[in-house]
Amino acid sequence: MKYIVVTGGVMSGLGKGITTASIGRLLKNRGYKIVPIKIDPYINIDAGTMNPYQHGEVYVLGDGAEVDLDLGHYERFMDVELGREHNITTGIIYAAVIERERKGDYLGQTVQIIPHVTNEIKARIREVAAKPLQGLRVSLSGACGGTGRARDGAEPHNSGADICLVEIGGTVGDIESMPFLEAVRQMQREEEEEDVFLFVHVTLVPFTALNEQKTKPTQHSVKALRELGLQPDVIVCRSKKPLKEDVKEKIAMFCNVKKEAVISAPDTGDIYEVPLLLEHEGIAEYVMDKLRLTPLTEDHDWAQMVARRKESLQGRKIRVAIVGKYAELEDSYLSIKEAIKHAAVALGCNAELKWLEAEGLEGVDGLDPFFNDVQGILVPGGFGIRGVEGKINAIAYAREHKIPFLGLCFGFQLAVIEAARDIAQLKDAHSTEHCETPHPVIDLLEGQQGVEDMGGTMRLGDYEVFIRKDTLAERIYGKRKIVERHRHRYEVNPAYIEQIEREGVIFSGTDRSGTRMEIMEIEGHPFFFATQFHPEFKSRPNKPSPPFKAFLEACLEKQ
Ligand code: GLN
Repeated sequence: MKYIVVTGGVMSGLGKGITTASIGRLLKNRGYKIVPIKIDPYINIDAGTMNPYQHGEVYVLGDGAEVDLDLGHYERFMDVELGREHNITTGIIYAAVIERERKGDYLGQTVQIIPHVTNEIKARIREVAAKPLQGLRVSLSGACGGTGRARDGAEPHNSGADICLVEIGGTVGDIESMPFLEAVRQMQREEEEEDVFLFVHVTLVPFTALNEQKTKPTQHSVKALRELGLQPDVIVCRSKKPLKEDVKEKIAMFCNVKKEAVISAPDTGDIYEVPLLLEHEGIAEYVMDKLRLTPLTEDHDWAQMVARRKESLQGRKIRVAIVGKYAELEDSYLSIKEAIKHAAVALGCNAELKWLEAEGLEGVDGLDPFFNDVQGILVPGGFGIRGVEGKINAIAYAREHKIPFLGLCFGFQLAVIEAARDIAQLKDAHSTEHCETPHPVIDLLEGQQGVEDMGGTMRLGDYEVFIRKDTLAERIYGKRKIVERHRHRYEVNPAYIEQIEREGVIFSGTDRSGTRMEIMEIEGHPFFFATQFHPEFKSRPNKPSPPFKAFLEACLEKQ
């Protein structure tokens, strides 16, 4: 097992996750199997209880883990299926250490950050690295292509990955990340060979008002890293424009790395281009060489996808309105944004997004001005009452004006409420998540009451959905049973299903028992499709999510 550790300097928000995902992709292109781990130094056990305003989207994995959005980048860039063990937080580590202490595992010892916390971190990383991962090609050449072991044709030391990619969240110097940096320092020290560990440091090279590139922040952050006993092997420099040669030389000299190891990562309008930019800078070759790995295969799928994406941006234009609560913070809906891109590439069109703040659609005189320049309306997931009536207004508008509509999770629940109010004449129908109502069409199911903990108690992750014959759902998926990811607490109230299913409204997908409604559609509408699940989490650049693709197709037709 080889390890690549990615740290960040100067400030957060530099795109460390995308950089990590891109490095993973480049190594995957060379035939290596990568297991990525994201370390989040916050004390929360997981991202599930975090506000998307502060933290961006909560990404949901197949196993139901609610994780940092960087795991979404990993899954999309490397096309793997990750699990909860791939996101390690301080909360998880401390909880494990404290549980052990209570059991008496450390009997007699004073439990300390070093060695107890760091040991726990090291053990977790090693354990996760060794665990087989879904979506990986089973290596025939052995686990470590570049070591004697593989060339001897000996059994690989595990059936999982060749390279473990560990991204340490936060910025070097943060108090919270110290135990993790110390743990990886120890891990490197414990390896006999020099070609096992590699450190990549992602920093910022800012410009002055006179357009001069400044290296001092990078020098300082590398100094901070070296004070902790870590010498970066590669420095990825984020900046507005490509680094000048003399700037690279300066960074190389002050930070004690080779000039080829100073990688210029200028801003780009398209995150999917980042692997290609980094490839061009020679990062993959440098890393492979340092880890003594040789390419096993050559994979051009990614480059072809990026080329198709460029072409599709020149293609037909459509505009989709996204009506949300965090519309000003697009990171809150990251996977939806990406899923639309994937679908647009597949259809060769250019899908533009129009972000609309839901509250702005309340109490206004007619919605034409908001929607007359869009071909589709999407209402994403959400929580809480703010903006609810605005979203319902948008759904009513889409239904009545026959505008293609995609509702996801909360968007599905609100579509059900809208249909209940307007089609089934259930006045004041609502969700008990928000208020008391004479018609609780969205409610907790029996047995769900009394859940007190907020963290990790929703219906989360992969569940089967059974699709009714001869429906839009069947046409979209081309099959009768699918698996999609979920994240919700509330459900369509079974007591109201019969009343709501009229005038073309049908629940075309349910769980196996038929009690949980999963898909709602409206016959006779060009495209009205709402899902209790979140199809966006399974969309990949080369494998668009079927509902997203069908939605954009309908938008193209509308145009
Ligand atoms: N708030 C709704 C629920 O808990 C929907 C959740 C969501 O959109 N992710 O069921």
